[in-house]
Amino acid sequence: MSPQVSGSVHTQGYNQPVGDAALIACQHCDLVQRLPRLELGGSARCPRCNKELWRRREDSLNRTLALTLTAAVLYVIANSVPMLGLTIVGRDASTTVIGGAQHLWNNGQQLVGVLVLFTAVIAPALQIGLMLAIVLGAMRERAPRWVGAVLRHHPITRIWSMIEVMMVGVLVALVKIADYATVIPGIALFVLWVLVFILAGMQASFDSREVWERIDWAEDSARGGAAGEFMAEEPL
Ligand SMILES: [Zn+2]
Repeated sequence: MSPQVSGSVHTQGYNQPVGDAALIACQHCDLVQRLPRLELGGSARCPRCNKELWRRREDSLNRTLALTLTAAVLYVIANSVPMLGLTIVGRDASTTVIGGAQHLWNNGQQLVGVLVLFTAVIAPALQIGLMLAIVLGAMRERAPRWVGAVLRHHPITRIWSMIEVMMVGVLVALVKIADYATVIPGIALFVLWVLVFILAGMQASFDSREVWERIDWAEDSARGGAAGEFMAEEPL
């Protein structure tokens, strides 16, 4: 008689990680459960709190790649053309996003300047660049292990990428100075608005679980670390 245990969780000896990537903890109520195989477009709900656990998105990698490439092009345009122009008593001035941060720095607002540069320029660049790396890595026949490391840290760039917050600030400032100066909206202003929606679409079409499934954990499994790494996955 083989020492098979009833149920589908395999015992692997004392204090060993459970090598079962189908186990998932609900992000809302922490109930650990087994995720069924889902059809394309299908979704699974938590039996305890009825929140969606996972939706299998159709053609996720290709759609995410298309949106990421679009975002990259828009990002380059948005940072190379003027965002705003002002005409005050015959004097013209225009600035880009980076130029705006530089103005803040030069006018004694160093902290605000650094924050604008980081949240509106550096973090979005990382968000787009790392997403491109993840998707291209995951599309390879055997997704390399570094994709997992990048995927685990990618949510940080999304949290700090705040182009939409900057845009709301710019709009408020525009309304306030409209009485004193003629404001000329630059191309970058419109491009940035489009970029905000493209970035939201990029994140919405991205299916992190599909990427995790593609990542080659064979080497980890040999060391018994696959489940440990998997359980450490951060929700995206
Ligand atoms: Zn739940």
